[in-house]
Amino acid sequence: MSDLDGNSICLSRSLEALLRDHLDDTQKDLVFKRLDHHIKKYKALKERNPKRVAEYFQISMDQRLDQQMEKQKDLSAKISCKAGCHECCKQVVTITRDEAVLLREVIEDLGIQIDVNRLLKQVDANSRTWYQLEGKDRECVFLDEGGQCKVYNWRPLYCRKHLSLDEPALCNKEDSRHPRMYIDPEAEIIASAATSSTESGPMARLLLDEIESQASIGPSPEKTIR
Ligand code: SF4
Repeated sequence: MSDLDGNSICLSRSLEALLRDHLDDTQKDLVFKRLDHHIKKYKALKERNPKRVAEYFQISMDQRLDQQMEKQKDLSAKISCKAGCHECCKQVVTITRDEAVLLREVIEDLGIQIDVNRLLKQVDANSRTWYQLEGKDRECVFLDEGGQCKVYNWRPLYCRKHLSLDEPALCNKEDSRHPRMYIDPEAEIIASAATSSTESGPMARLLLDEIESQASIGPSPEKTIR
């Protein structure tokens, strides 16, 4: 698919479904204009301040979702995501290259320990073989023993927009039933603009790339990846 300037774009599955099944031509035009706006913003910000681009987009998404929750008071009561629930953290998570850089920096700065062996197993799995991994090996390397995210403030856009309206177990898609999700079009546009503006892919691969590229440069004494 292409944007208004003919550049190829990478849309989230939810945005693709909205465009395909639910929006009329006027609404589709609006989606592409918003996408164009965010892609231009991403590229401009990346030129000016590449270290801030991932965080800027994460904050934009949070603000948008907070606004929606504020506007639709009954919505937040319907969202089943709660602190400690981590069923969605056992799926393949898509991130951008800039988010991988941010996560690697957070690992270094906070001295977070991650299971690199698990990451290697996840890199080797594809969408068909993911559910053949042992339960623990499917868990995100940032999940702590209490089921909390160790990088919550810096978690990827993909994690921020995952808002289930259904029973938590359905987020760990081992069976064929999928949870009903709250889909906010603007949040999907923000995520799609990010993945269209830079390389994106499974978290395990991009994160391992980042860790390995820094290891080959050589860690500074105070910034060791554990
Ligand atoms: S980054 Fe955090 S929220 Fe996202 S999958 Fe990993 S543990 Fe879960």
